[in-house]
Amino acid sequence: MLVGAWDTGQVMTALPLVFDAPKRGLPPRHLADLSVAERAAAVAELGEKPFRAKQLSNHYFSRLTVDPADMTDIPAASRSRLVESLMPTLLTEVRALEADRGATRKTLWRAHDGTLLESVLMRYPDRATLCISSQAGCGMACPFCATGQGGLDRNLSTAEIVDQVRSAAAVMRDGTMPGGPGRLSNIVFMGMGEPLANYKRVVAAVRRITDPAPGGLGIGQRSVTVSTVGLAPAIRKLADEKMQVRLAVSLHTPDDELRDTLVPVNNRWSVDEVLSAARYYADTSGRRVSIEYALIRDINDQPWRAELLAKRLRQHLGQLVHVNVIPLNPTPGSKWDASPKPVEREFVRLVNAGGVACTVRDTRGQDIAAACGQLAAEG
Ligand code: SAH
Repeated sequence: MLVGAWDTGQVMTALPLVFDAPKRGLPPRHLADLSVAERAAAVAELGEKPFRAKQLSNHYFSRLTVDPADMTDIPAASRSRLVESLMPTLLTEVRALEADRGATRKTLWRAHDGTLLESVLMRYPDRATLCISSQAGCGMACPFCATGQGGLDRNLSTAEIVDQVRSAAAVMRDGTMPGGPGRLSNIVFMGMGEPLANYKRVVAAVRRITDPAPGGLGIGQRSVTVSTVGLAPAIRKLADEKMQVRLAVSLHTPDDELRDTLVPVNNRWSVDEVLSAARYYADTSGRRVSIEYALIRDINDQPWRAELLAKRLRQHLGQLVHVNVIPLNPTPGSKWDASPKPVEREFVRLVNAGGVACTVRDTRGQDIAAACGQLAAEG
């Protein structure tokens, strides 16, 4: 996947380092990779006046612009030097697809090295949520997810994650979506990739997204959700960051036997280990944890599983939990589909009856392959 079409197996084994091209990799350094202090240092290194760091931050994080022509408060010579070394173009829009009469927009981005990734903007009457990617592709190999089927391409840099948000914030502000100008209010790490497998860059991105402008984009930490397959040690580490972000855990079944196949990383960290890490997160953050449950016909939708789910969640998390049922979205090559509505209703009823809050997530963008588990970034 990462090698050019002209590569042959023979050449590759003989000279792997020389011929491993075109090399894909992280982009050059960008303002959005850096903390406020690091930005000041980077500007000083270029021999520019310290206040230029704040001017650049203001353009990027407050005015949401990356166009040098907008930066008229910086003299031309300095501007090109600063932009060249701190604001390389990271993401180029390849195409945008719309659904729900324009209220859902999926954007396909190309990174500097040709890597493709997607993000999805969803506008609701009272809020606008952006679903962002933390990796191009995903290495977790969940069999019902199109991203997982494609494998991992590479991690995204902090700035590549942040730039998806900056760009959607500009779309909302400029009112180019139906409904006129608005504000990007929520961010969910539910696009491509496993955020906790790209831990350091994701945490830095959360800080850039949530720090007040012009240090960051100024979106409240409580409005950011990090969704994970359940990398238990990383969940605990995230709790210790003492941020107010919401944690979502993609559980999909309460028993290890089935979860070992639905979420292969369960072979490493079991349901118990994942739920006790989730409890630690809930206790440390004081926030309820969301449990994601993609409901799959005849696979994980049995009444006994609903009862067992409620029981185990109550044991581990008490009232500090909420279940989101996601009707399975179809993916290419998968034989599975969503449960019939009556089965879904009964599942939700049983979880609620078991003492755990449970609702069905509204699905957006199925017709443009923008719904949960459908992001494949096909150019
Ligand atoms: N890797 C992280 C982030 C991806 S979030 C995680 O797994 O949590 C995407 C969510 O959609 C996850 O809960 C995932 O399990 C779910 N999902 C994947 N494929 C799906 C599908 N075909 N239908 C419905 N939900 C799906």
